[in-house]
Amino acid sequence: MSRPDKFIVDGKRLDGRLPDQLRPIKIEVDVLKRADGSCYIEMGKNKVVAAVYGPREAFPRHIQDPSKVVVRYRYNMAPFSVEERKRPGPDRRSVEISKVSKEAFETIIMKELFPRSVVDIFVEVLQADAGSRTACINAASVALVDAGIPVKGMLTSVAVAKVDGTLVLDPMKEEDNFGDADMPFAFLIRGGKIESIALLQMDGRMTKAEIKDAIALAKKGAMEIYNLQREAIMKQFVEEEE
Ligand code: ADP
Repeated sequence: MSRPDKFIVDGKRLDGRLPDQLRPIKIEVDVLKRADGSCYIEMGKNKVVAAVYGPREAFPRHIQDPSKVVVRYRYNMAPFSVEERKRPGPDRRSVEISKVSKEAFETIIMKELFPRSVVDIFVEVLQADAGSRTACINAASVALVDAGIPVKGMLTSVAVAKVDGTLVLDPMKEEDNFGDADMPFAFLIRGGKIESIALLQMDGRMTKAEIKDAIALAKKGAMEIYNLQREAIMKQFVEEEE
């Protein structure tokens, strides 16, 4: 993949989207039999699956916390998920993504309800096209609800990038790789409203004003994703009742 000359032509991005448009999203709930909760999400060309287990007794005992549940999060990329084969197993990038995502989920899980227990969140990237960490957080959030784990709200994640001096929502690979800045967010959404930011990262450069605009754009995208997450969960529960 080489750097495109221009990222925006006649107001449209390389894949035909407007700057404030998300990629198409597909969400399926309860896709894995053995997990307590699971979810498959496509965000554009990203394809990810999340599996949640627990709360269950934490082993070995020394990892237990007598006051609250321990949250574990493992982000993993399949070797076939990217253009060149990815070497299997953890690397610096996946350890970092797992850490920041785990910390975001620690803010929404009602941890005090389950002392000495563990909640395991596994996310597997089957196909990556930039924004895989955001797709994984969105999937994990739905999977947690599917597992019936008490949460304070939904975590909804989306990135904003800067290309040709313009802020774009939900960047795809070219925009992420060759753009001037990239800023993934995760928001805690409670009662249909964005309550706080649970994850915020950035590389590249943005002015103060751009950061303000990026937050507003990310919030708009997050609300759209949240509505789809909610819809997928509602559909699942209606089907279960039938
Ligand atoms: P995110 O997927 O959350 O945007 P990055 O910004 O680190 O995370 O990565 C952007 C994209 O670069 C990924 O979605 C993937 O398409 C590609 N990528 C990441 N790691 C690798 C790798 N080890 N080999 C090939 N491509 C990769």
